Amino acid sequence: MARIVQKYGGSSVAAPEQIRDLARRIVARHDAGDEIVVVVSAMGRLNSPYATDTLLSLLGGNQGSLSKRELDLLMGTGEIISAVVLSGELQKAGIASEAYSGGRAGIITDNNYTGAEVLSVDAVPLRAALREGLVPVVAGFQGRSLEGELATLGRGGSDLTAALLGEALDAEKVEIYTDVDGIMTTDPKLCGQAVTLEGISYNEVFQMADSGAKVIHKKAVEVARRAGIPLIIKNTFSEHKGTAITEYRYLNQTGKLRPITAIACRTERVQYRIEGKLVDEDFFRELAAAGVSIDIINIFPDLRAFTIDADKTGAAEAVLQKYDACYRRTDDCTQISLIGEGMTGVPGVMARILSALMKRGIEILQTADSLSTIACLISSPKTAAAVAALHQ
Ligand code: ADP
Ligand code: ASP
Ligand code: MG
Repeated sequence: MARIVQKYGGSSVAAPEQIRDLARRIVARHDAGDEIVVVVSAMGRLNSPYATDTLLSLLGGNQGSLSKRELDLLMGTGEIISAVVLSGELQKAGIASEAYSGGRAGIITDNNYTGAEVLSVDAVPLRAALREGLVPVVAGFQGRSLEGELATLGRGGSDLTAALLGEALDAEKVEIYTDVDGIMTTDPKLCGQAVTLEGISYNEVFQMADSGAKVIHKKAVEVARRAGIPLIIKNTFSEHKGTAITEYRYLNQTGKLRPITAIACRTERVQYRIEGKLVDEDFFRELAAAGVSIDIINIFPDLRAFTIDADKTGAAEAVLQKYDACYRRTDDCTQISLIGEGMTGVPGVMARILSALMKRGIEILQTADSLSTIACLISSPKTAAAVAALHQ
């Protein structure tokens, strides 16, 4: 008998018939003797009536003076609906089940609404439910704040709920069900040549998530690594065995660590190039104080270049103007990151990346590298061509 946390993403619970199918599968697994805790996302994606983006769109693109606490009340209902509907289907299928809000499942957060940090997870309520033979269905992406309100954990946060519950309940593994066969070499929506990886290390998949790959939330990877619990990414709609995310560092055919395992993209980036002298320390401190997080930063005596999220340009420009900086701004950029634990010390990796892009006339606006990642900034309309070239 294994204790397993299963998380079903929005596409897996998009319609009532799908939820009925899921319930049948969960019952079969339960009858085979496994202890299962289920975590669900809101039903479907934008335009599905209860998807998170649809709920937000009810505000007509203008949040007025609603507080973040109130926004969380709105967003948190999507997951609550899915949890109740799936739990109802499990009950109809003849097994004992109960729907839980994140708070009732023991997840306690700070009061930082819309992006709350989880402070603790009390495993007592779910452990008691499992002892009674119940299949708890927990609303993902949410917890109870210190002041007793519903607080959400940041977009894509249901993966984090699953990993946290896996840790708190000492689960054997956490299975994340989605609409692709597993972690792929790149986003299949961007590149038809992407292939599914049999396995990948926590470190590499963390780098991917941190570089924009949406397939798994980076905090979920951190929690699973800390707890030593395998994360298994699987397709709800296929029998593919999926991708195992563990500590294991996979080797290529030549018995070496893979120099490049995957490619990830972060879109909606804006590049700034500032010419002339600046009091860097003060300038960058002020940017940080204005909530602007910077990336791919290069500093030369008379030039500094960095990128930020497109939605932070207003805040950044207020600081730039205060310093009377002479700057050039390039909108609509994408950061493409190539990730692989085996790239360190291998000569020629950067040369091959540059040549793949330059051969296709793709201009590189900036690059950065770390131990297991090389990032290139390019103009967004070239993204698909660049990913295809690099993938090849
Ligand atoms: P869910 O709603 O199930 O959480 P998400 O939309 O958050 O699903 O994540 C799944 C999506 O992640 C896929 O449909 C795919 O387009 C995207 N994706 C991005 N990078 C990758 C990758 N390297 N491997 C697989 N999927 C990826
Ligand atoms: N429904 C939430 C979102 O769309 C959380 C999740 O799906 O993980 O961000
Ligand atoms: Mg997701």
